[in-house]
Amino acid sequence: MKAQILATVATAALLAGCTTAYGEDLDTMATPSADAAAIPSGTGYFAADSTLPFKTPDFSKISEDDYIPAFEQGMAIQKAEIQAIIDNPAPPTMENTIVALEKSGRMLGRVARVFFAVTGSNTTDRLDEINTEISPKLTAHGDSIVLNPELFARVKAVYDNRAAMTMTPEDAALLEDTYDGMVHAGALLTEAQRTRVKEINSELSEITTEFGQQARAAMADQPVIFDSREDLAGLSESDIKAAADLAAEKGFEGKYAIALQNTTQQPLLPNMTNRAAREKLFMASYNRANGTTDIDTRPLVAKTAALRAEKAALFGEADWASYAMWDRMAEKPATALGFMERMVPALANTQRREAAMLNEAIAAEGGDFEVQPWDWYRYANKVKAERYDLDEDAMAEYFQLDTVLEDGVFYAAEKLYGLTFQKRSDLPVYHPDVTTYTVFDRDGSELGLFYFDPFQRESKRGGAWMSNFVDQSDLWGTKPVIYNVLNIPKAPEGEVQLVSFDNVNTLFHEFGHALHGFFADQRYESLSGTAVARDFVEYPSQVNEMWATYPEVLSNYAKHYRTGETIPAEMIEKLEAASQFNQGYDFGEVVEAALLDMKWAALSREEAAAIDTPEEVSQFERQSLEQLGLEIDLVPPRYRTTYFNHIFSSPSGYSAGYYSYLWTEMLDRDSRKWFMDNGGLTRANGDHYRKTVLSTGGTMDYFEMFRNFAGREPDVTPMLEARGLIAGDEAADSEASDGKLPPRTVN
Ligand SMILES: [Zn+2]
Repeated sequence: MKAQILATVATAALLAGCTTAYGEDLDTMATPSADAAAIPSGTGYFAADSTLPFKTPDFSKISEDDYIPAFEQGMAIQKAEIQAIIDNPAPPTMENTIVALEKSGRMLGRVARVFFAVTGSNTTDRLDEINTEISPKLTAHGDSIVLNPELFARVKAVYDNRAAMTMTPEDAALLEDTYDGMVHAGALLTEAQRTRVKEINSELSEITTEFGQQARAAMADQPVIFDSREDLAGLSESDIKAAADLAAEKGFEGKYAIALQNTTQQPLLPNMTNRAAREKLFMASYNRANGTTDIDTRPLVAKTAALRAEKAALFGEADWASYAMWDRMAEKPATALGFMERMVPALANTQRREAAMLNEAIAAEGGDFEVQPWDWYRYANKVKAERYDLDEDAMAEYFQLDTVLEDGVFYAAEKLYGLTFQKRSDLPVYHPDVTTYTVFDRDGSELGLFYFDPFQRESKRGGAWMSNFVDQSDLWGTKPVIYNVLNIPKAPEGEVQLVSFDNVNTLFHEFGHALHGFFADQRYESLSGTAVARDFVEYPSQVNEMWATYPEVLSNYAKHYRTGETIPAEMIEKLEAASQFNQGYDFGEVVEAALLDMKWAALSREEAAAIDTPEEVSQFERQSLEQLGLEIDLVPPRYRTTYFNHIFSSPSGYSAGYYSYLWTEMLDRDSRKWFMDNGGLTRANGDHYRKTVLSTGGTMDYFEMFRNFAGREPDVTPMLEARGLIAGDEAADSEASDGKLPPRTVN
């Protein structure tokens, strides 16, 4: 469960607890004397719900000038609403405090949902300016709610009385989330403790910003310099020219310079034929920001670890991870660590097997050396090309965008859940490339609206995502209005719009999020649909990817655009076989980074204090990695401590959270196994998954949710099999995994 309304994040959509200005249609809320007169009313487009079907935004009526006033008014209204809750002379109750808080900020929620949707997918300079201006104000506004002591006193009064109250499970979840969210922000601390937390927050903010700048400088300001063109043998002419230009720009006229990229491995390495040059480039990356040049982020790391551990201790937590993971499924660092450690034996075996295979390839070529990290991808790519000659362009000829969506993604949703879709053309959209569909439920009733925005354009940020224009909520009587945004290169005018298999997969993935939103069946928006924990939210979307290559679905949509012939099975088999190649490295480096993140986050205050000097930082990293038992010198972590931006470049960021990618993959692969064991693509399976997982939002314990679905605890074995780390028949007796997760610590 996750306290969505209390999360003090830059998007006020999360603050949308919501009310249509106080007084309107407060069906359940007989608030004795909330002073309606004191609540200002808004003006402009966002002051009221849209009058379009499903209350979907009317883009024909929204202008850029509407946003700032709507944000300002929305915050002012919510502030007044909060004050009215505080000033209510009646004793605090679920309705007049917790639900009233949930209902507050409706105008703010309305503007934020639209604003952040369009700045993400169709921004302008003006929208970017507004974003810069409004984001800190929204953060401060959120803080002023979660850190309001008078509001907390009322919330706590309700919470402390909860044993005596009769509540639905969803009410109980809302109450607990509201309370926990405020406690997490510091509501239970003493004045002195709160002052110290504020100091720590601002110190962390400075230190982590500096970490980000130094890590960036270690890439941008310190490219690797090569003296001669021979060093770059194997690179393309344009890469060589770029290296010459960069050297000149950095004052090394006549030489060559390669800028480092984020990860430990560097993208140009596989093409470089000069082994000494490969080693030089790799080692510069590997030793980045660790004092081998004048940049050393280790003192910042030591300070960050100490401050985080101190902050956690102020909250009575054993370590930073325990504090940061309060609203996650895994909840305790030991659970996440145990889960990852369980993969280690199989992974270590695979790493050694792959190294042996690459050593053979090197010997076959007449090389007299053993593979090192700087050689790895050069030889892995060669072996891969020999074994699987995947022709991605030839494959894309079977994937026409409209057909993939309607006869693939929608078809699978119909078979599993009984959904049907009708394209419509009457709704205004924010860009002409956006299409809309009404989604009908299994009984033929309207379930929601779906917006589909597939194409790359300059005004859109990278990646793919899903969100809501309108959240499902029984309280407001709203049905979900959901959008999927992708970045598919648009075919030239008049040509058939084909997509890569990667993008096919992304279509199924994003629609998996959409299903999670469409099947939401909650009373409260802050618990509705995808308002779930970070280590859970990617689970339903990953599960939906399984239907992309499911034979019955595939044969319905993957047809050659000219001949109409169905995609040959060998093509898909080859694709799936290739996806298991090189996992000792590809997967291993991610597991190592995730473990390293968790080790840093799981330090007690005393342990953190003992890591003080730069040398001690290096030692701790080395020790932590050595303890794992993986081949860390052949396969180093994807990010080393000194340039692990995800966890050290913002006050919290992905710290104690990098494992989430692996965790949701475990849930996903285990669920795919359940579907396959139970007959695959059937309505019965879909309805069961919908009932137990997709419709439950953030209203219950996630382990319970999973048990309701699968009838058992999640199991890591199917993920290891899918990655090719263990063979299916090995699973039963492999020491690598009895599969079971360690029991979750409850306290
Ligand atoms: Zn996703």
